[in-house]
Amino acid sequence: MALMITDECINCDVCEPECPNSAISQGEEIYEINPDKCTECVGHYDKPQCQEVCPIDCIPFNPDVRETHDQLMAKYLRLVGSGKK
Ligand code: SF4
Ligand code: SF4
Repeated sequence: MALMITDECINCDVCEPECPNSAISQGEEIYEINPDKCTECVGHYDKPQCQEVCPIDCIPFNPDVRETHDQLMAKYLRLVGSGKK
């Protein structure tokens, strides 16, 4: 997991279209981030785009599961189909 959405989310729908990896979707109660798809925006942008747009700052890094830049880049390459499956 890279980033996570907390239960402070107000379901404003601003973050979902900003994610270059389609990692954000509406969950049962609030929006959720698929950790298999979130690269912290590595490969696409300098900063996590969802964090940039969230009006209430409820998308922190998951402190328990941080990935290195190399791991995130490898995930990005898998997602775009040019890395190992
Ligand atoms: Fe998507 Fe980037 Fe947010 Fe991860 S950090 S959920 S890749 S917008
Ligand atoms: Fe929830 Fe923030 Fe996404 Fe809006 S931008 S849906 S408040 S996580």
